[in-house]
Amino acid sequence: MQLTGNLLIGARDVGASEGTMKALNPATNQPIEPAFALGGPTEVDRAATLADEAFDAYSHTSLAVRAAFLEHIADNLDRVRETLAARAALETGLPQAQLEDEALKATTQFRQFADVVRKGRFLQLAIDPEQPERQPRPRMDHRLQKIAIGPVAIFGASNFPIAYSVAGGDTASALAAGATVILKAHNAHPGASEIQARAIREAVQACGLPEGVFSMVRGSGNAIGEALVDHPLIKAVTFTGSEQGGMALYRRAQLRTDPIPVFAEMTSVNPTFILPQALAERGAQIGDGFVERMLVNVGQACLKPAILVAIEGTGFEALRHAMSKRVSEAPARTMLTPGIHAAYLSGLCAIENAGARLVAVGSTSTAEVDGRSALFEVDGQRFLAEPLLSQEVFGPSALLVKVRDEAELLRVARSFKGQLSATLHLEQDDLPLARRLLPPLERRTGRIVVNAFAHPQEVCFATVHGGPFPATSDSRFTSVGMTSIERFLRPVAYQGFPDALLPEPLRDGNPLGLPRLVDGH
Ligand code: NAP
Repeated sequence: MQLTGNLLIGARDVGASEGTMKALNPATNQPIEPAFALGGPTEVDRAATLADEAFDAYSHTSLAVRAAFLEHIADNLDRVRETLAARAALETGLPQAQLEDEALKATTQFRQFADVVRKGRFLQLAIDPEQPERQPRPRMDHRLQKIAIGPVAIFGASNFPIAYSVAGGDTASALAAGATVILKAHNAHPGASEIQARAIREAVQACGLPEGVFSMVRGSGNAIGEALVDHPLIKAVTFTGSEQGGMALYRRAQLRTDPIPVFAEMTSVNPTFILPQALAERGAQIGDGFVERMLVNVGQACLKPAILVAIEGTGFEALRHAMSKRVSEAPARTMLTPGIHAAYLSGLCAIENAGARLVAVGSTSTAEVDGRSALFEVDGQRFLAEPLLSQEVFGPSALLVKVRDEAELLRVARSFKGQLSATLHLEQDDLPLARRLLPPLERRTGRIVVNAFAHPQEVCFATVHGGPFPATSDSRFTSVGMTSIERFLRPVAYQGFPDALLPEPLRDGNPLGLPRLVDGH
């Protein structure tokens, strides 16, 4: 596919209004052709106007039409999978095979959401029929369905150039909900973004949908993101990235005259706790598995396990030895951008300055943005005294926290801020301690994993990829999985409607055969 570098505003290819940029190959530190157009508030306004104009028609498409559209996107993505993975590999330094897998997951996700749309359960239909004879007051006929919230702005993430980017879960779930989408492409992978955006736009056209269903904008600096969050026609925002960026956009959205929800997924260290019997029996094996998972995506992953907590005792030495060995054998690998690499190096310094001891480092390399893996260790007392030690370091590093006893382990568990996940390694004799750990972990995390590492990410109905602040800005929702669609829905009640005026899913006789709660049943 020939990349044009244009912005995709509805059906139009739009050139630069605010200069151009080139992608950087992080492995060579060299720019890659072609030049990509940068836009600003004018392009955001055009895209938002089109998204608003398209909204009524798109959000009222039949479930069958919307599902077919999502499947059409999946088919288009399948056709470009290799090209997309090759370009994404060039722009991110991530292995092409991994990116092909990521593209396959994105395709699967669009098909899964097509199924969700067809089955219609997400509409959460409820009917409370009229009760004219009820005493002391009659009840009107009440019917409820969920509808899309409005045009949505989605910020593509840097670290998964497909799964959390243009054709990622945010876009799939928003389109499934019936929302129109403006995607703000991440400048770390503009070519991969264009390939995905063209696949979506072609599906919009092939399915005869209004052009404003999908647009992709790109800009430099904060101006374009701010214009999106400020735009009065935008009704919700999703974001994956730094806590600083996510919170800046969140606060901005709350200062609008009409505040809107910002679903930001930001930061998590995903603490892992090894309980005593598991440590004694499998310390080395867990240490090895932990580091293997920590190194995935060169540690640039929201579910990277960054902190491992264990009680000093039998198995601890084996654990430390296995972790050190794995870390020291790991080759330095290309990180996503020079900025992320620089942030990683300063994160390592911060950990060391906060009192952690460097236990092992991976091999070096001469390439400028290669991330060298690192393992630090600290005792529980120091960890509890220094909040900096529980901050995320985005890259291939981990911190081993050695605690004295169960009481200190529980104190450490209670010291964490909100997390996407926590993991427990346990055996039968560890169950009483695990039961005591559960309440503090449930309060602080969106998912708790036992005897495994939270990988690979499943996209299913029971997935929770969310958690209390600062993991996300809204702990009531997940950004991955089939229920992520709920971020883009709101309830509307129809009272006393004649049947012919009701939305089809709510009509008498259930013409679409959808699941409905009738009079509480
Ligand atoms: P980022 O700096 O938070 O940026 C993400 C997106 O938001 C980019 O498109 C960025 O635009 C935009 N943005 C950020 N702050 C903004 C603001 N104040 N106003 C308007 N737009 C804003 O994240 P990143 O570029 O992916 O990486 C930087 C750091 O984020 C990493 O070092 C890492 O610490 C963290 N991160 C964490 C995760 C995670 O899953 N936990 C994932 C990715 C990144 P510009 O690019 O134009 O600035």
